[in-house]
Amino acid sequence: MSTANLVICEFCDAVYRRAPLRDGAAARCRRCGAHLYSSSRADLHAMLAVTLAALVMFVVANAYPLMMLGVGGQISEATLWQMIVDTYDSNVSPIALVAAATVFFFPLLQICLYAYVLIPLRRNRVPVAFIGVMHALRQMQPWTMVEVFMLGLLVAVVKLGGMATSTPETGMWAFAVLTLLLTLLNSRDLEELWERAEQIERAAGGDAVLLRPLPVEAPDTSVQAPSSDETRRMPGQARAPLLRASQLDLIACHGCGLVLRDTLRHAPGFCPRCDQALQRRKPDSQARSWAFLIAAAILYIPANVLPVMRTSTLFGADDNTILSGVVELWNSGAWDLAVIVFTASIAVPLMKMACLTLLLISSRQRSARWQRERTRIYRMVEFIGRWSMLDVFVVALLLSLVRFGILAEVKAGPGIVAFCAVVVLTMLASMSFDPRMIWDVRSSARTRPRAAEGTGA
Ligand SMILES: [Zn+2]
Ligand SMILES: [Zn+2]
Repeated sequence: MSTANLVICEFCDAVYRRAPLRDGAAARCRRCGAHLYSSSRADLHAMLAVTLAALVMFVVANAYPLMMLGVGGQISEATLWQMIVDTYDSNVSPIALVAAATVFFFPLLQICLYAYVLIPLRRNRVPVAFIGVMHALRQMQPWTMVEVFMLGLLVAVVKLGGMATSTPETGMWAFAVLTLLLTLLNSRDLEELWERAEQIERAAGGDAVLLRPLPVEAPDTSVQAPSSDETRRMPGQARAPLLRASQLDLIACHGCGLVLRDTLRHAPGFCPRCDQALQRRKPDSQARSWAFLIAAAILYIPANVLPVMRTSTLFGADDNTILSGVVELWNSGAWDLAVIVFTASIAVPLMKMACLTLLLISSRQRSARWQRERTRIYRMVEFIGRWSMLDVFVVALLLSLVRFGILAEVKAGPGIVAFCAVVVLTMLASMSFDPRMIWDVRSSARTRPRAAEGTGA
């Protein structure tokens, strides 16, 4: 058995032998419940079709206005790019840079890079600079926020509905379709593309771009198959204790997921497939996470105290903090949106910081308690972090749309820059945290979680 047949859980370091799955089934980690791999092989034709459709939708979404706003006979419209330029010209230019990166440049680059990789792969060729492009695609994924912007558009339509007539336009519908297409594209494992490229290289007998993984024998035959939808129906089945990568001297590449024999316990090495430096754990994970977390906690205060928005109408000016914005939505009857904005802008950042603090302290103490639950908390923190960007997009949209001179005008306040920094810093903090530290327990405490394993999955 070669290591090519093995898969290592990126959350808890458990090692599995790949087992064939039913169509549409997914393999999950028995220990922590994380997704390992899915049954379907990448259908390059379908992926390319989705990519090209996304490119068309991206052009449409940017060419047409997102929404129209009418007040007292005056009409205001804004495209995405107009919104970015307006935000840049205001007193909160950092917000414009974040919006331009997360809603314009990264999605566009992602679509183009997918097309660049998929078109040659479909013709059984590996494109030039394949490795670099694949790393760029992986790193861009968490920073593409089209779906968060879409929710921001909906909030803006409702928020403005109270003071003027707001109508969604072509650009907004195109954004909705683009959101669906990008979600579909990002749900694919990039590992499938790595494997496809490797198959092509191997068939051609070449050594141009990709090197072969080292065909080493897996040292232990007790490596189990992961749990899938099928195995879940048979709960009574006896299970041997799961082995960890460190116990088997195996290591998984962070860049491409390739499993290798860890012969370099003391010397750094590089992945033969993607050239990434091989690391057992993320370097300086604790220190980096703490640094980002503390910076975020400090900025959370000005983010909530300073106004994020100043609305001036004929009746006077009004400074809005994040909380007063929520209260306003609630009072105007949009209680569902008030709940969404409260959750995304106030509860989520606070909960994220509390959860990360808990994870950092417990993993520093090498605690063996609630490991499965703590891993779940980490996965949740990673998933919801980006949604806090909602308020940032709403403010950018409002200040670009509401420009009716003395009738009504929206200006951004300094609070929104602090808030945007909190969101980015908490995302960096959770990315720096290595969830495998949760499972690096003291050897004396190691027997306890094993007993609990059989009850889950
Ligand atoms: Zn796991
Ligand atoms: Zn690699």
